[in-house]
Amino acid sequence: MKLSDRINAIVAGGLDGWEVHYRARALREAGQDITMLTIGDHDRTTPDQLIDAMAASARSGRTGYMPMAGLMDLRRAIAARAADRTGHPATPENIIVQPGGQAALFAALTAVADAGDRVLFIDPYYATYPGTIRAAGAVPVAVPARPDHGFQPLLTDLEAAAAGAKALLINSPNNPTGAVYSPRTMQMIADFCTSHDLWLLSDEVYDGQVWEGRHISPRGLPGMAERTLVLNSLSKSHVMTGWRIGWVAGPEEAIARMTDLAISTTYGIPGFVQDAGRIALTEGAGIEANLRETYRRRRGVAIAALKGANGVSLAHPDGAMYVMLDIRATGLDGITFAETLLDQAGIAVMPGESFGNAAAGHVRVALTVEDSLLEMALRQLAAFAARRAA
Ligand code: PLP
Repeated sequence: MKLSDRINAIVAGGLDGWEVHYRARALREAGQDITMLTIGDHDRTTPDQLIDAMAASARSGRTGYMPMAGLMDLRRAIAARAADRTGHPATPENIIVQPGGQAALFAALTAVADAGDRVLFIDPYYATYPGTIRAAGAVPVAVPARPDHGFQPLLTDLEAAAAGAKALLINSPNNPTGAVYSPRTMQMIADFCTSHDLWLLSDEVYDGQVWEGRHISPRGLPGMAERTLVLNSLSKSHVMTGWRIGWVAGPEEAIARMTDLAISTTYGIPGFVQDAGRIALTEGAGIEANLRETYRRRRGVAIAALKGANGVSLAHPDGAMYVMLDIRATGLDGITFAETLLDQAGIAVMPGESFGNAAAGHVRVALTVEDSLLEMALRQLAAFAARRAA
């Protein structure tokens, strides 16, 4: 039986960009010593404080169906955080709880784009973006953000793609590049969306991981709250990747319609997960600070390990739990570099090309192994790059 064109098109061409990662994982499972710097998941598990909160909630009876938009006390806690992080007031009516930032993105896209609508997104991009836009029935249109501009998008590139667009999806602090959009970039994006009457979807899952500059949410810029949907989650902030808990913050009507959508999709989020999420937000500042400091420290390890290296240099490691490395001086593309590095040194990194054309000639390193291993792997990577560049 033939499946729908829509579902067949989600992963275009059969390749999903994770080929090096899959091969590395297979080598590791076969017993080889492989350092995995590919995936954006923490090398620690969720602290007991949150697991205990979850268990206590479940034991107390929070095991039934939940309100579609989420529990009111969690929405209140998220609203307080959204107001604080975005700089624009929020009430629980501005918040819908979602099973993770990824699901929040799908709900937001469904809320703003009709079938066939063009949705702009910035390249390099988080790997799921084009597929998620297609899954929502819309048409992904990549807008390059170039390495020579610090991976910050330019108005000329946005304007060149604007015709017929319905929405723009951005992500700052950025995965994979580590770029944190400057106040100027963010204001330019806001003006662009206003002048073309676009929705702005702002993925802010790394809003707490800023090493240089400061996080600016476009929701807080004048006049933008009415056209901005902010996507966020507890995955990257509170060591909760597997829990699947996130949210959309946006105008009340958009939240109400996404609540309608939830009846057809999630039918609510487990209450015990929501209770743990509320504890994370209200009592988990220490967890967040500890994780943040770990990545800040490892970013420092990466900078030190690559200092003076030949053939490889750090792109702007301003935020998020990754560093992007420019390896163009080696003459290799990111895929060949990553495949060869895996074969010769047993180190797995992500080719920039997995995240779009604009990241060609780069590789992304996730800071998700302990410091000494990270340092050793990056020194080996630098030696490999130097041999290639020579
Ligand atoms: N957005 C970005 C930029 C990400 O890097 C990720 C995960 O790596 C997500 C969204 C999805 O996060 P989650 O669904 O775990 O909240």
